[in-house]
Amino acid sequence: MVRSVIEKRLVSAIEELDGVRDYPHEELISIIKEVGFECNLCARCCTQEFNDHVFLLTNDVKTMKEVSSDCLEPAPYYELCDQHGYFYVSGYALKTRDDGSCIFLGNKRCSIYQKRPMICRLYPYMLHREPDEDGNVGWRQISGLDKHGCYHTDISDEEAGEIALQIKSYETAYLKQLIAFFRKAQQHFNKNKLKHVQGVYDREIRKFNKGGEITVFVYFDGYFVEHRVKKE
Ligand code: SF4
Repeated sequence: MVRSVIEKRLVSAIEELDGVRDYPHEELISIIKEVGFECNLCARCCTQEFNDHVFLLTNDVKTMKEVSSDCLEPAPYYELCDQHGYFYVSGYALKTRDDGSCIFLGNKRCSIYQKRPMICRLYPYMLHREPDEDGNVGWRQISGLDKHGCYHTDISDEEAGEIALQIKSYETAYLKQLIAFFRKAQQHFNKNKLKHVQGVYDREIRKFNKGGEITVFVYFDGYFVEHRVKKE
């Protein structure tokens, strides 16, 4: 039987989750210690120069809603588009300013530091499988290596162990959200006789890039929330 796009992506997200869970903890600790990253407050990671967007987990969204009524937008790179041109995405991101800086960045400091999203607490650490320049898929544990901050500082075993636990916890939560999104989308598409159509996706994105308005359903806490989206 031919698998739908949603089924394929769902299976891939489940495999990725298994991979994160099985990733050797000691190896992650050893990489963290070897890189020895230390923040030097350059604030570049809070701009699109370094980070395309700040993706939010469901709990992050709840916190951000308490902090500000106007700081969320559908995360970019919508996962699906049905035959009617409606997009579906697995979560929200923080808004950015015209210069690409995070809406909460002020004077090179985070104005909501104590309440900042999970990804901001962990960056530049990550645990993703990605293709390298030759297309070989492998694990990537650090973002923007040697491009910001300080490296080769001493990190204790205890601290590295704590960071490793937090990375796995974040990536697990992210993948669970993605899996829940695909399951919800599968249910919604089956019920309403919808299918993902890449040609419609590409056409609508072209319209959007030229200033057109699109409809995006954002997955949040078990539901899809409808948004009309236009480039500012
Ligand atoms: S929320 Fe704070 S730490 Fe996160 S990107 Fe924005 S300014 Fe930086």
